[in-house]
Amino acid sequence: MITCTGCALLCEDIEVIIENNSVKETRNACRRGAARIKGCVNRMVPSIDQKPVDIDISLKKAIQILKNAKAPMLFGFGNSTNEAQKKAIQLAKKINAALDDTSSFCQGHLIEKVLHNKFRTCSLDEIRNKADVLVYWGSDAQDSQPRHLSRFSYFPRGELRQRGYEEDRLAIAIDVRESNTAKICKGHFYRIPLKGDREFILALMDALSGKVPTYDPKKMLELAAILKKAEFGVIFAGIGLTYSIKDDIDILVALSDKLPNFHIMPMVGHYNMRGFNENLFNETGFVNRVKFSEGKTIHDDKYSIVEALKENTVDALLVVGSDPVSSLPRSIISHLASIPVICIDPCVTMTSKIAIVNIPCAVSGIESSGTAIRMDGKVVELKKAMASNYPDDENVLKRLLEVI
Ligand code: SF4
Repeated sequence: MITCTGCALLCEDIEVIIENNSVKETRNACRRGAARIKGCVNRMVPSIDQKPVDIDISLKKAIQILKNAKAPMLFGFGNSTNEAQKKAIQLAKKINAALDDTSSFCQGHLIEKVLHNKFRTCSLDEIRNKADVLVYWGSDAQDSQPRHLSRFSYFPRGELRQRGYEEDRLAIAIDVRESNTAKICKGHFYRIPLKGDREFILALMDALSGKVPTYDPKKMLELAAILKKAEFGVIFAGIGLTYSIKDDIDILVALSDKLPNFHIMPMVGHYNMRGFNENLFNETGFVNRVKFSEGKTIHDDKYSIVEALKENTVDALLVVGSDPVSSLPRSIISHLASIPVICIDPCVTMTSKIAIVNIPCAVSGIESSGTAIRMDGKVVELKKAMASNYPDDENVLKRLLEVI
């Protein structure tokens, strides 16, 4: 049995059949997970200037770049183990680097609120056992965390929900489009306009307070009545919601104050993004966007990868287990042309294609072991199932740390 690292659900019930050191078959994994476990379509090879070299030579070149950099940045780590993330924090401290991850432009704001205990949250196991009202808000779990509904939320029987989804659970979707998750919500789909989440929350809070909301009063009063009756409710806050209210996340805190039986869970995508946020938070009190300077930690929006590239304030970028070239706008990414990029990853990515130095590593959870933090905060063990020709990213970072 291994743990799937295809998303932040970290399913621990995956069976794999290995033959000749390659995955022949997987059981229990969803399609996304099975693809992840099968490994890279295109395996990365060590290279400098896109020309293959020995891995030790690519490491030496990476060390030289980081040593010479006056304003280096380390970025990524959502697909790295806790152990690798902790090494990255040590490395960033040692070379006075800025450190950021993808949560900086997705769920970081929400996870920060969770870590500061700003609203009630709960575990996935509690949801399976107790939850009766499930609100998928700006979240298409069916596509992004494909076993969410079947393992934890809507479909399974639970201690207090023996009659399952047929009678004991109600699923609601609030979204700008009728997603695959919304289609399962049997008529409880509330369509909102793009960036309309704030207005929707305000109207819902009015309805919960007994006022007649100005925005779609009939539907709002109907929704407020359902939410008020919940015994154990959960709002699954997806990226759609977080993007939309990112400048006013406290409005979600205000909504949760009006719903005493509700819990909020950030729907995390990358398997250990929450791990990065927690590890950095434990070390510095911040979840992302930091810069280390002679033993001090500075937290500022200018240390987000977006701002740093826009303002040209970094002179070398180390990317680990992430692909900013495929996820950031071209106007931002164009700045990468003027600085050396080092990429550590098991697979060829858009970022590795423009990197000066590529250092391949083992695929965590199948070729290397470690731990990760599930979307609800549970620490999960990752087990190695087969050998790799390459070191894991923790060891690559350890070597960089030792030599620099
Ligand atoms: S739901 Fe996520 S963790 Fe579970 S098998 Fe699918 S991809 Fe893997």
